[in-house]
Amino acid sequence: MKNFDWITPATAKEAVEACTAGRTFMGGGTDLVTLMKAGLVEPAGLVSLSRVTGLDAIAEDGEGLMLGARVTLAALAENTAVARRAPAVADSARNTATPLVRNRATVGGNLCQRPRCWYFRHPDYKCSKKGGDTCYAIEGENKYHAIFENTTCNIVHPSNLGPAFMAHDAELVILGPKGERKLSIHEFWVRPEEDMKTEIALDAGELITRVDLKPMPARTGSAFEEVNEKQSFDWGLVAAAVRLTLDGDKAADVRIILGAVAPVPLRHAEAEKALTGRVPDEKAALAAAEKAVEGATPLRDNHYKIAMLKACVKNAILMAAARARKAGG
Ligand SMILES: Cc1cc2nc3c(=O)[nH]c(=O)nc-3n(C[C@H](O)[C@H](O)[C@H](O)COP(=O)(O)OP(=O)(O)OC[C@H]3O[C@@H](n4cnc5c(N)ncnc54)[C@H](O)[C@@H]3O)c2cc1C
Repeated sequence: MKNFDWITPATAKEAVEACTAGRTFMGGGTDLVTLMKAGLVEPAGLVSLSRVTGLDAIAEDGEGLMLGARVTLAALAENTAVARRAPAVADSARNTATPLVRNRATVGGNLCQRPRCWYFRHPDYKCSKKGGDTCYAIEGENKYHAIFENTTCNIVHPSNLGPAFMAHDAELVILGPKGERKLSIHEFWVRPEEDMKTEIALDAGELITRVDLKPMPARTGSAFEEVNEKQSFDWGLVAAAVRLTLDGDKAADVRIILGAVAPVPLRHAEAEKALTGRVPDEKAALAAAEKAVEGATPLRDNHYKIAMLKACVKNAILMAAARARKAGG
């Protein structure tokens, strides 16, 4: 590993000012350090967020929930306001990795983590994401890869928080050299066809400071479900985040977001349409789940994801509906 500066600013503004000349931000370091050890990134310096004030709070008021970018996944998973006001977000944090990782990993880092594709992570493969001209997963070992939008590059987006934040229409507060801006989570993801070298719409030196979630309407529930290969600590093979509101006993304002199946978390309009206006029972949930897998283009080794994704979407719908029935309003 190359030598690097170590900087510990006290404020977000100082952090942004320090993050120039090849330096990069570090949250918990659970992804960044792995990339540095593999020689995939060689920052000139690390701007640690560990002492930056104001980034580690979870606050709630009439406007909703405000999650500091340095809040850990453990804090997110355990917070009662998050469980009440954004259950899918609490589920997604709880389902991530191990207690050890969750104690270090942060909200900002989870959204900005790089893909787990083994060709991308291996220093000897110069895949298209690293400036080469081939996606090795197309012909190679592709059991963990994408089943949608997989013509150019076959990564799946690894973030659990991503789909859950999309179900809650999160807004990111970003501070950069040019000042502060807000960005909808729906506009945060970058597809390989748009820019092969990144997965997110952050410019150099931009820091996520906060994630804001608006209050849920009455009689609304959300849920995040994933299927893992092992129960212990691996990334999801497939995931789904769902949010719906009950209008009488019918589902309205439905959001269905698929995780771990495409280079970006995928909102699925057709599956949402299939559930809207129906009582969200087993039959309707299955119909929406079947819609969600239509059009999948699995690779040689990942056809298994289709049946798993269907089950995952169905279970997330049923859990979100059960929570909506219990919710007040
Ligand atoms: C065994 C294991 C299992 C895992 N399983 C899962 C899983 O199932 N689901 C899942 O989602 N993740 C999983 N992860 C990944 C883990 O969640 C991420 O590594 C973690 O969330 C990254 O957060 P961090 O704070 O450590 O980020 P860092 O490693 O510190 O940073 C990651 C990237 O984010 C950037 N960054 C960090 N904070 C900010 C900010 N505020 N603004 C702008 N850029 C920022 C850094 O510059 C870097 O590029 C797993 C990890 C391990 C080790």
